[in-house]
Amino acid sequence: MNVNNVELVISAVKPEQYPNEGLPEFALAGRSNVGKSSFINKMINRKSLARTSSKPGKTQTLNFYKIEEKLFFVDVPGYGYAKVSKKEREAWGKMIETYFTSRKELKAVLLIIDLRHPPMDDDVLMYDFLKYYELPCIVIATKADKIPRGKWQKHVKMAKETLNLQQEDKIIVFSSETGEGKDKVWGILGDFQN
Ligand code: GDP
Repeated sequence: MNVNNVELVISAVKPEQYPNEGLPEFALAGRSNVGKSSFINKMINRKSLARTSSKPGKTQTLNFYKIEEKLFFVDVPGYGYAKVSKKEREAWGKMIETYFTSRKELKAVLLIIDLRHPPMDDDVLMYDFLKYYELPCIVIATKADKIPRGKWQKHVKMAKETLNLQQEDKIIVFSSETGEGKDKVWGILGDFQN
C-alpha cells in the first residue's frame, strides 16, 4: 500500500477514548528502542510521525494512527524499560490487557523484535500473552540491514525457536533503513482485512 494520508486520531488511556469508526486495527508492540517507531514511519512513508513515546517520564498512551481511512496502527508503549516504576508498569499492564482482551477491531498484533539477537524474556512473555488470548501475531524481525543477508535465515530460525512460534503466525525480516519486508507486511495486513 502506498500511504499518503495518516492522522494521529487519539492518544488513549481508556476504552471510552478509543475511536468508534469500526476500522480494523493492528497493534504494534515491542521492547523500548527495538525500532518500533522507525518501523511505523517506514510503513507510512514518514520521517518522524510516530513519536518515540516509550521513553520513561512520558505519558503512556495507546496512539491510534488512522491510515488512508482504511485501518489503524495502534502504537503500544514499549516494554522492558528497567527505569519505570512498579506503579507505571502496573498501569501499562492494565491498559494493554484491557485493549488486547476486549477490542473487537483488533485483527492482529505486530510484535517487533531485533533480528540480530534471540528474542529476550520480555518478548517471549509478550508472545505467550498474545497466544493465551488467541490473538494472531505477526513477528517483525527488524534491523536486518545490520547483519549479512546470508545469516538472516539462521536468525529467523533462532527467533522462531525462542518464541516457540505457532504455525498460524508469521515472521517477517524487516529493515527500516532499506525498506526490506515492507511490501510483504502490507500484503499480510491486507489479507487480515478481507
Ligand atoms: P523504538 O523505541 O522502538 O520506537 O525505537 P526507534 O524506532 O526510535 O529506534 C531505535 C534506534 O534504532 C534508532 O537509533 C533507530 O535509528 C535505530 N533503528 C531502528 N530501526 C532500524 C533499522 O531497521 N536499521 C537500522 N540500522 N537502525 C534502526
